[in-house]
Amino acid sequence: MQNQLTCEQVEALLNFYIENKLSEKLSEYVRKHIEKCPSCMDKYIKMRNMLNKIINIECPEIENPYITKQYEDFKSNLSAYIDNELDDLENIKIKKISISNPLARQDLEKIYTFKKLLHNSYEKTKSEFKNDLSKNIIHQLQQENYEQDRIDPFTKLVITFFAMLTCIVAGIIGILYF
Ligand SMILES: [Zn+2]
Repeated sequence: MQNQLTCEQVEALLNFYIENKLSEKLSEYVRKHIEKCPSCMDKYIKMRNMLNKIINIECPEIENPYITKQYEDFKSNLSAYIDNELDDLENIKIKKISISNPLARQDLEKIYTFKKLLHNSYEKTKSEFKNDLSKNIIHQLQQENYEQDRIDPFTKLVITFFAMLTCIVAGIIGILYF
């Protein structure tokens, strides 16, 4: 277990591994990791193919062993699977591939992570919007109260003014006619 390499270590060792410059033991660790890790396998194959082209070694291009017909089917059905649009039989097929094929499993995990992220950001936006909305309402209420407070004394003044005017006019009329 201690001899297991991380992806970073494998990546750093890859071109030495391809050029056969590692010790037998280290080479073995890299090989073991690549066999289990689809993303490192992918890097290995790409680097190997690239090096083959550069150095022009007569060596057949290696295909990713995980990209099978089954995997292609999986890929084309994946979004339907996620959206629950497949029948039971097809669902089982997808599950089986995702268990047996690390590349398929990785794809599925990626999609689920992505969905979760999307959902989280949606929830976040929703709660932020709610927050904003309640803040807005409170702000509006405060604004209205403020307006009322501002208008009220003025209204009172107008009413007082008209009341006084009525009294004065009534008084004048009283003096003149009685
Ligand atoms: Zn790896």
